[in-house]
Amino acid sequence: MWMDLYQAVTTEGGRYVQGGTCTTVGVAGLVQSGGFNSFSKRFGTAAAGLLEAEIVTADGRVRVVNECNDPDLFWALKGGGGGTFGVVTRVTLRTHELPNSFGAAWGQVKARSNEAFARLIGRFIAFYEQTLFNPHWGEHVHFRPDNTLEIDMISQGLTPEQTLATWQPFFDWVKASPNDFDLVSPGAWAWEARTWWDIDKRSSLFVRDTRAGAPRHHAWGKGDQGEVGIFLHGYDSLWLPASLLQKDRQQSLANALFAASRHQMVRLHIGKGLAGAPPEVRAAARHTATNPAVADAFTLVIIAEGERPPAYPGYARPDLDLAAARKNAHDIDLAAAELRKIAPNSGSYVSESNYFNRGWQQEYWGEHYAKLRSIKSKYDAEGLFFVHHGVGSEEWSADGFTRLL
Ligand SMILES: Cc1cc2nc3c(=O)[nH]c(=O)nc-3n(C[C@H](O)[C@H](O)[C@H](O)COP(=O)(O)OP(=O)(O)OC[C@H]3O[C@@H](n4cnc5c(N)ncnc54)[C@H](O)[C@@H]3O)c2cc1C
Repeated sequence: MWMDLYQAVTTEGGRYVQGGTCTTVGVAGLVQSGGFNSFSKRFGTAAAGLLEAEIVTADGRVRVVNECNDPDLFWALKGGGGGTFGVVTRVTLRTHELPNSFGAAWGQVKARSNEAFARLIGRFIAFYEQTLFNPHWGEHVHFRPDNTLEIDMISQGLTPEQTLATWQPFFDWVKASPNDFDLVSPGAWAWEARTWWDIDKRSSLFVRDTRAGAPRHHAWGKGDQGEVGIFLHGYDSLWLPASLLQKDRQQSLANALFAASRHQMVRLHIGKGLAGAPPEVRAAARHTATNPAVADAFTLVIIAEGERPPAYPGYARPDLDLAAARKNAHDIDLAAAELRKIAPNSGSYVSESNYFNRGWQQEYWGEHYAKLRSIKSKYDAEGLFFVHHGVGSEEWSADGFTRLL
């Protein structure tokens, strides 16, 4: 799990390794799907940080793949999707110098009318483009149907004073219109980066794994608690290209976000689009199997809804409200459609995407799909490894047991 790496690399080693935000996500699957966290605008994808992998391929061979050995397979492992090319048994990842500080900005802005909310979205887009569209800032902002903008942003490489100064103009703009907006619990600050994943020093932000035998450093973020065991009603995602941030397009972007937010909460995962990242970071992402659209997108939008508590077999819980679930799923479709009007065919992140995505080959891998398919045929001609909407899965029935082509 990434928490094991963050403990070893950052808390103990004082370095940085590019992984995922949720500490309980596994390393092997995330690297093979791309892999982002809130610092990806500075360090790129986890896939781009892969230097070497040991993999058992369908023929039973143990291969050590890198830029020199089986470079085609090595490239496919960098974003071509987990469970498709073999069983990865070891990975070697690049580490980076750790920034001095990691920080955050938070708060809620409640607009008192639809008109005020539409204006707020427009103002936030302009503020983002002017001030936050750079390697320092990642996730999240949420636009909610109840006309609330929720700020949950993460920064790297800024002092506490710089972090606060970045946001003060936006907070001041909101406060200047008390008849239109209510600003709730705003704030911004930064901390020593080495303590970011140190659950002893930041115990108020983590839920510890208290099961017998769990390592002391195992924990997940309190902010991620809502995802634990969630039963999803629907889920969709798409990248938004940075061209939408151009001044003459900001209004149509704001209009689309407002229209989408009428149906469902819209979340911008800003670290999951690499426009605004340093040129070498974007170039490294283009050198992987991930859809190259990621390098030109300023954010991944995720629209999803579900319910808790978990719905595991044998786990006592109230019955699912199927009518509400279907309505949510439909609203998610409507919200995503509003954004696809301004960003058609802009791609989607394989690991956080719509299970029912019809254009998945193009959406997840873009121009890379044909090459990935030929690598799949070369290393797994019989189709031993099958994943729903994985490379080559169109040759198989939905359960992966009957060859169709
Ligand atoms: C709560 C939650 C939070 C998430 N947060 C993020 C995030 O912050 N950033 C992000 O980029 N993504 C995130 N994701 C998506 C995540 O990247 C994928 O779910 C990822 O595939 C998880 O990797 P895993 O190792 O846990 O694999 P699993 O979910 O167990 O498997 C995913 C796929 O990879 C395959 N796989 C796993 N291990 C191997 C291996 N050793 N060799 C070959 N194939 C393997 C599996 O067969 C499967 O097809 C999140 C997902 C969830 C559920």
